[in-house]
Amino acid sequence: MAFYSPSEKVCFSAARNAQRYTTFTALIYNLRMQEATTLIEEIKISDAWTLDEYAAITELTATVSELKTEAGVVAPHLKGRTVWMINSTAQGGGVAEMMPKMISIFRELDCDVRWAVINTDEELFFSFTKRLHNMIHGIESGEVSAEEREVYERVNRENADDFKRYVQPGDVVVIHDPQPMAMGAYIKKELGVYTIWRCHIGLDQHNTATRTAWTFLKQYADVYDHSVFSAPEYIPDYLAGRSTIICPAIDPLSHKNRELTTHKLMGILCNSHIARKHQPVLTEDFEESALRLRSDGEFADASGQDEIGLLYRPIISQISRWDRLKGFAPLMRGFIQLKRTAADRNNIDERHRRRLQIVRMVLAGPDPRSIQDDPEGQEVLKEICDLYTGVDAEIQKDIGIFALPMKSRKENALMVNAIQRCSTVIAQNSVQEGFGLTATEAMWKGVPVMTSRACGLRQQVRDGVDGRMVSDADDVDQIAHVLDTMLANPHARADWGRNGRRRATEEFLVFSQIKYWLRLLDQEVAHAHA
Ligand code: UDP
Repeated sequence: MAFYSPSEKVCFSAARNAQRYTTFTALIYNLRMQEATTLIEEIKISDAWTLDEYAAITELTATVSELKTEAGVVAPHLKGRTVWMINSTAQGGGVAEMMPKMISIFRELDCDVRWAVINTDEELFFSFTKRLHNMIHGIESGEVSAEEREVYERVNRENADDFKRYVQPGDVVVIHDPQPMAMGAYIKKELGVYTIWRCHIGLDQHNTATRTAWTFLKQYADVYDHSVFSAPEYIPDYLAGRSTIICPAIDPLSHKNRELTTHKLMGILCNSHIARKHQPVLTEDFEESALRLRSDGEFADASGQDEIGLLYRPIISQISRWDRLKGFAPLMRGFIQLKRTAADRNNIDERHRRRLQIVRMVLAGPDPRSIQDDPEGQEVLKEICDLYTGVDAEIQKDIGIFALPMKSRKENALMVNAIQRCSTVIAQNSVQEGFGLTATEAMWKGVPVMTSRACGLRQQVRDGVDGRMVSDADDVDQIAHVLDTMLANPHARADWGRNGRRRATEEFLVFSQIKYWLRLLDQEVAHAHA
């Protein structure tokens, strides 16, 4: 079973080098190789870019070479062990998105790393683990009911039992996030293999919700040998001293991040209707075009409206989920204030005055049709739409609220890539942020960032080095001021973009992530069990 939709297949086959871009044709194998109820499934990975192909890109040569050197030392220490990565889904979400890339690189480095996902039909398991996830983020309080605990443990128990026959002494089991967490604890207790819990979520503040979640998880977490978090602030007290920080990472050759030639970039903008076709372009229209919010508050095909001018004007963009915590509304208010006050300002040079006249803002997120099951997302989007429809027509022209279709992940990723590459400043004005891959994506593209100081963003962005940070994501005056100073300083922007690119290349690409995993596996596992 392939994981891309039929429509993507058509698109892939129409493209040159189609094979290369079906990079992760993932096939599900039932580990048990029999028809009985499927619990644990191994996800087979194939057809990835090789490390040599990455290394051929000048900027990546050093980081790939460093990884190979490190693996040359560590891989022999891990010989004979399988490292199992286990999570709860093969598609959707950042963990599933990066897993094929990580696994294929590990394998190329001669490490036997495999990926398996847990399964269940129990709806309560998913609703409870979603609630647990939200509680760790400080929302959705309430106690864990006896029924929730029973279902959570039963599903984990069944999956642990199913998984046992495949684990050999000396193997390492890495469990991702809270959903399969109890399973790792059972495996550890009963088989004694080395277990690591990789937590991709967290909050740098505590409240009743976070305390309830962490208290519930403690009994399982205590059993593990080690844990991995994305930021030191996320480590619960009881795991202090036996946790390591490994930052999330991006794939520089994914559709969202790969370099785009000018013609390709233009093609994406035209094919998605974000820009007009003033000349013929090589590729055909995307399956679904981008939608732009109209002044009547309705989304419509972007081609039916004035062009936003991505290729001509200074652009400030933010692309995120429609989540209140992403800080879209204050960002838009800051931009509106900047535009409104620009005309009355003295003491600015003519170039900057012109810049402020023509600068535009792009706010983009998933097509509302793809978030029908997310009432909060719909509500946040409605607030943004109301804010937009409430401003005068002149300002409306300068703000593009785009809904990007999600039906084809490839086309969505290319649109994100193209908008980010056309941006003068990429904003991520989050009130809270687990890590903020959008900032990583911006830095990798060499675009200066304007971010808040939310925890995940603090791990990445250095204020005044890779861009600028606002101390309060709700402070409209400050946002307007910081955007103004960033726009006014093209030389500083060039420096920030360059610095950010270097930092992302060294720290936040998949190669560094694997390097840090190899170090951890070497220190904790190979030596401990030598
Ligand atoms: N994203 C996307 N399409 C959209 C909106 C967002 O592909 O329409 C991507 C964005 O580029 C980033 C990811 O979704 O890669 C969001 O990750 P991030 O860590 O920034 O925030 P999260 O959504 O996980 O809170």
